[in-house]
Amino acid sequence: TPAIVWFRSDLRLHDNTALAAAARQGPVIAVFLRCLPHWQRHGHGANKLDFWSRGVAALGESLAGLGIPLLHRDIDDFSEAPATLLAIARETGAGALHFNLEYPLDEQRRDRDVIAAFQEAGMAATGHHDAVAFAPGELLTGKGDYYGVFTPFAKAWHRQLSAERLALHDAPAPQAPLDIAADPLPALPELDDTPIDGRIWPAGEGPAADRLERFLRFRGRHYQRQRDFPAIRGTSELSPYLALGMISHRQCLQAVLAENDGALAEGDAGLTAWVSELVWREFYRHVAVGFPRVCRHRAFQQHTEALAWRDDEAGFAAWCEGRTGYPLVDAAMRQLVATGWMHNRLRMVTAMFLTKHLLIDWRRGEAFFLRHLVDGEFCANNGGWQWAASTGTDAAPYFRIFNPTTQSTRFDPDGTFLAEWLPALAELPKKARHAPASDLLGGVDYPAPIVDHRAARARALEAFKALKTD
Ligand code: FAD
Repeated sequence: TPAIVWFRSDLRLHDNTALAAAARQGPVIAVFLRCLPHWQRHGHGANKLDFWSRGVAALGESLAGLGIPLLHRDIDDFSEAPATLLAIARETGAGALHFNLEYPLDEQRRDRDVIAAFQEAGMAATGHHDAVAFAPGELLTGKGDYYGVFTPFAKAWHRQLSAERLALHDAPAPQAPLDIAADPLPALPELDDTPIDGRIWPAGEGPAADRLERFLRFRGRHYQRQRDFPAIRGTSELSPYLALGMISHRQCLQAVLAENDGALAEGDAGLTAWVSELVWREFYRHVAVGFPRVCRHRAFQQHTEALAWRDDEAGFAAWCEGRTGYPLVDAAMRQLVATGWMHNRLRMVTAMFLTKHLLIDWRRGEAFFLRHLVDGEFCANNGGWQWAASTGTDAAPYFRIFNPTTQSTRFDPDGTFLAEWLPALAELPKKARHAPASDLLGGVDYPAPIVDHRAARARALEAFKALKTD
């Protein structure tokens, strides 16, 4: 009897734990449940949904090459998943279900309900840990708690890592044709926003593998030196592919091992710094499971719930539209809206600007990012926002507030990135681009800063000092 593999954010044939497990048992039927209303209610925007849709199409083609049909169903809510999957199992005569686990709270609940429904129907359903080296709960502090700080988590991760945890799963061999036809994949309906040009982010395993190879060949060893400069393409730009599983962390780490004499924690400084980012990715997944309040829009640091965030619609709109008068913030926000991606240094700068300079609730920024990011992923996005807002794990101490002008002179010294996204400023001398003086601006159409750095900083410090920490 065939087994069903339910694909979600693991859109690949290679090194896919659930797919490999199912293929070991016999023929495979693939299923994708598109849950657009639910994903939209949870804030995923057009860019991510479009990338997801193209990723499913690419997966369908690769599966067809192996004789595996991909069935497609639209559901309105996660609660429909158990019945829909059971119906497919009955229609196709499948005897088992396999899928790779997802870690945000709603996804965990959905998966538990699916497993329970299959058990009740007398069928096996297995959720596999695939997107992490350690299942959440496997790495705990000496007291048996989940880690709430990155560095000890990363140390434990490296210490306990074994070769088996990174062993790659083979893609399944071609199978004899089943008497089940693949479904035609429906186009994405019209959404509130128009997705960006899909050529910026070609979907599928092939483009993901190419990116990894090019990154490691040309930039990996320079990563530590280049990663903070947004004008340089110094990072891998693999985040959308990792978020939807068009490539696995194991494939990335195996490629590093091959380049770095079999080591992850030592050796080339660029490669080891890159590995550390993949550990951050895993850390935030453990945090989502260990501290489920973060999945309920709550702060990790509970005392910060009392913070007096400001209502400032005009400030929020200026931030969203990239017209705060702080060029680095504005250029970054324009990069986000135009490309669906923002450089990590700038995610930190813009998130801190919103939460500290404007003292606007991090949840609003988190939602705006998710609406635009092609790599929008709950755990990393929430972790990043709470870090910047000083409400999260490893919280940046609230008094360390980035000065957006200093960040600009340090990380875009020639104003190259600024000129790319704010063409008006390209007319100015390089050094003048970071904080354009009003007399220099003359006819140039660029706004004056909407807040004064010092005054805004003082206001944020005041708000944080007012919190009781006990
Ligand atoms: P690289 O530098 O090449 O890193 C390799 C991979 O490691 C990334 O693709 C990503 O999967 C992972 N990674 C890197 N940095 C982090 C990090 N700080 N936390 C978790 N994982 C990391 N990343 C997302 O994938 N989705 C998000 O929605 C997201 N939102 C963020 C919001 C804020 C406010 C901040 C500060 C960071 C956010 N990040 C998010 C993390 C990081 O900015 C991006 O992963 C990174 O910029 C993606 O570019 P890259 O693939 O070139 O990264």
